[in-house]
Amino acid sequence: MIRTYAVFFLAVCFLLMPLKSESSDETKVFFSSASLVRGDLILITIHADLLEKPLAFWMKKEIPLIYSQANASWRGFIAADLKQKPGVYKVVVQLPSSGFEKEFYIRVNDRDYGVRKLKLDPKKVDLDAEALNRAGNEAAIVNELWTADCQLPLWDDGFLMPVDKKIVGTFGRRSIINKRKRAPHTGVDISGKSGDPVKAIHNGTVMLVADHFFTGNSLYLNHGGCIISMYFHLDKILVKNGDKVEKGQIIGLVGATGRVTESHLHWGVRINGARVNPLTLIKLSGKWDE
Ligand SMILES: [Zn+2]
Repeated sequence: MIRTYAVFFLAVCFLLMPLKSESSDETKVFFSSASLVRGDLILITIHADLLEKPLAFWMKKEIPLIYSQANASWRGFIAADLKQKPGVYKVVVQLPSSGFEKEFYIRVNDRDYGVRKLKLDPKKVDLDAEALNRAGNEAAIVNELWTADCQLPLWDDGFLMPVDKKIVGTFGRRSIINKRKRAPHTGVDISGKSGDPVKAIHNGTVMLVADHFFTGNSLYLNHGGCIISMYFHLDKILVKNGDKVEKGQIIGLVGATGRVTESHLHWGVRINGARVNPLTLIKLSGKWDE
């Protein structure tokens, strides 16, 4: 009797085992590239059912994943901060419903983004005690934003350029201001006359509207899915804290407020806290449903 049970048990095991490994093999994970440079992002695609929501982690943070109907797969962004140390970093993909778990390795490479040399009013560079105190307080307020609740995405397709004009300042350049090394450029500068309209790059919620020492009239949008966009040196801001905005909505006007030499839009993006090139977000999100 015991032997019959044992045979039956083994038979069931053999029947189940191939089924289980087959379902694991079906979970295909793709990356738009096996490597990225610091300050950039790539796309992760996980072929899994809508009801089989996978989990993915990169540098110990959960990557928000969004289901793409057109692709029948889950997608998200893997982003490396501008100051990320080059090296190989692990991505862990899990499917809680089937127990599937697999590790992948993505290389972050260094990149020489070049240098920008600026001459500014020394008062705006070598700050007195009062300005230093002000800038410090403002930095603390902005730093709070990166830990805001961000999982639920308010978007599921391509992001827009905020101003459709020439890029006059590229992302990532080291800065030398009045012959001294300063923080690198963490956004892109788009040319614009004072008063030109600035569009929301996607649906979002206004996180912060402020007049800051360096960035002038500044606006921060939370798009969910841990994507935050920011717009600096604005002449006017047309929305207020907590407002819901739609993709393409005019949220402000180009200006020359804060520490600038001439009117332009400084536009930055953070993905899961990482400072990345906003132009790559435009490019990759445009392929969301491909
Ligand atoms: Zn800038």
